[in-house]
Amino acid sequence: MPKVAVLPGDGIGQEIVPEAIRVLQAVLTDSSLRLEFKEYPVGGAAIDRAGRALPAETLAACQEADAVLLGAVGGPKWDTLPAPERPETAALLGLRKALGLYANIRPVRMLPALADASALKREVVQNTDLVVLRELTGGLYFGEKGRKQNPPAAYDLMIYTEEEVERIVRLAFETARLRRKKLCSVDKANVLETSRFWREVTLRVAAAYPEVELTHMYVDNAAMQLVRDPEQFDVLVTENMFGDILTDLASMLSGSIGMMASASLNGKKGLYEPAHGSAPDIAGKNLANPLATILSGALMLRYSFAREKEAQAIEQAVSKVLDAGYRTGDLAKPGDKVLGTKEMGDAVLAAL
Ligand code: ATP
Ligand code: MG
Repeated sequence: MPKVAVLPGDGIGQEIVPEAIRVLQAVLTDSSLRLEFKEYPVGGAAIDRAGRALPAETLAACQEADAVLLGAVGGPKWDTLPAPERPETAALLGLRKALGLYANIRPVRMLPALADASALKREVVQNTDLVVLRELTGGLYFGEKGRKQNPPAAYDLMIYTEEEVERIVRLAFETARLRRKKLCSVDKANVLETSRFWREVTLRVAAAYPEVELTHMYVDNAAMQLVRDPEQFDVLVTENMFGDILTDLASMLSGSIGMMASASLNGKKGLYEPAHGSAPDIAGKNLANPLATILSGALMLRYSFAREKEAQAIEQAVSKVLDAGYRTGDLAKPGDKVLGTKEMGDAVLAAL
């Protein structure tokens, strides 16, 4: 039986992951796919229990599993630890690197029911349907970093190999080919050498995809265009840090960061998690929106298990619940029916 390593982690991770598991189990009851879900400690919770954010047993389980479902890691309790030991660095970056998860996929689709929950006007966002592919194991976050003395200074090295650029760009072309056939590569080629290199490699890969319309955009302009006219985008591809920033920005187009799912892939092997963090401000209060995690479960069925029908069933159940006017606090407007985390999970199950 295929295995899913379940890593709830910290803060709201403990509340949202169980809802996603319930939904996955429900959608699979009528299917031939059986998944074995097994839970492992990660993040601050693992530091408290085992002394480190990514225990060897957890890492081994993730390496062995067919897919990983992650909640979130980190919180104020562990913020004073030295950077390499912190949950975000040790667990999240550690897992991405160890599993070779070089491609982070974040779909941003405006669900009609949420057009008024968006940070932008309905007219601007109502037809938003885009996907951001973020390179996840290279660039500044993984480059050499350090301090210097006299005068005191710090540095982070930005480096990309040809192979690293090529594989993410290729996946972006493949993704665009199956959608509206438009790819926008985001860089800062007017000032960064890594970006000029990124463009060269992208142009080379493009030769194999004549049916896809390729454009290039500077990242500062891309940030502006995403809030000015998100409809213009189909697939965006970009390096690690630019993608981190642009996807948080893009999450607000679709109503709340609590709606944004993500898949981090290395072929069929994938780690699935909401794009948001552990939200310590609302943790333990049954207030968190579980939909980003539930939708991440749908991505798991799609990318790791090729179960498109079941993935869509989850996505449709989520739309149905929102169409019926149910909201968690992060999405609520006066007059909405406000649900807690568990009750939102119940509503999605009922809609399934
Ligand atoms: P990270 O560094 O892990 O990305 P962060 O500091 O950027 O974390 P988040 O944990 O993503 O922050 O939270 C940012 C804000 O969004 C907080 O106010 C939090 O309460 C809210 N938030 C995040 N996720 C959710 C959710 N699922 N439901 C409701 N609100 C959320
Ligand atoms: Mg963040």
